[in-house]
Amino acid sequence: MIFGKKEVFMRLVLTVAISICSIIGDQGLKNGKSTVSRAIFDNITHAIVGGLTWAVILNLSKKSLTQYFPSIVCCFLLSSFIDVDHFIAAWSWKINDATHLEKRPFLHCTTVPIVLWFLMNFYSNVFNYPKLSYYSWIVLASFLSHHIRDGTRRGLWFCPIGSTQPIPYYLYLMLYFAIAGGVIAGFLLLLFILVCILFVKLNRLAVDG
Ligand SMILES: [Zn+2]
Repeated sequence: MIFGKKEVFMRLVLTVAISICSIIGDQGLKNGKSTVSRAIFDNITHAIVGGLTWAVILNLSKKSLTQYFPSIVCCFLLSSFIDVDHFIAAWSWKINDATHLEKRPFLHCTTVPIVLWFLMNFYSNVFNYPKLSYYSWIVLASFLSHHIRDGTRRGLWFCPIGSTQPIPYYLYLMLYFAIAGGVIAGFLLLLFILVCILFVKLNRLAVDG
């Protein structure tokens, strides 16, 4: 794949933006004064990282960011919406209840977006509805960007198998740079290292994430 200088520069800007946004978001999460401010800060960071992740993917697919802007908004909103399961699991709209759950809520299980992706692609092929396959990637990108960022603190939760150890922060950022670099071999290598590190340390009997 040959990319123009403008596309490569744009991708670099987006990846640096993801890194800066993640670092600022995590600082806000550590130093936030109240539970409410921390939760809002964290959720906005998820939304921005989700939207930017989709923008990187569009850039790699040589799609115009302005033309596909609605899909970036969609990924932004979905990455934020995932945290609604905290309120559902708590059966309460109080942020204090939602942030003090005993278990990780169901939309934080990484098996969910993987199964959704397979189902959506299956239906897309069976019913010849290509749009569904396109949406499946938006869903996958939103969930994975959210889960991987959460995973730097709590690991990835593959229900019903168990949870992994937290993802090292540098690996999280390197993964984005590898994807943005468009270096497929580099990306696969990183993914392989990531999977090895995580699964060797898998807590098989973990009840939650
Ligand atoms: Zn979350």
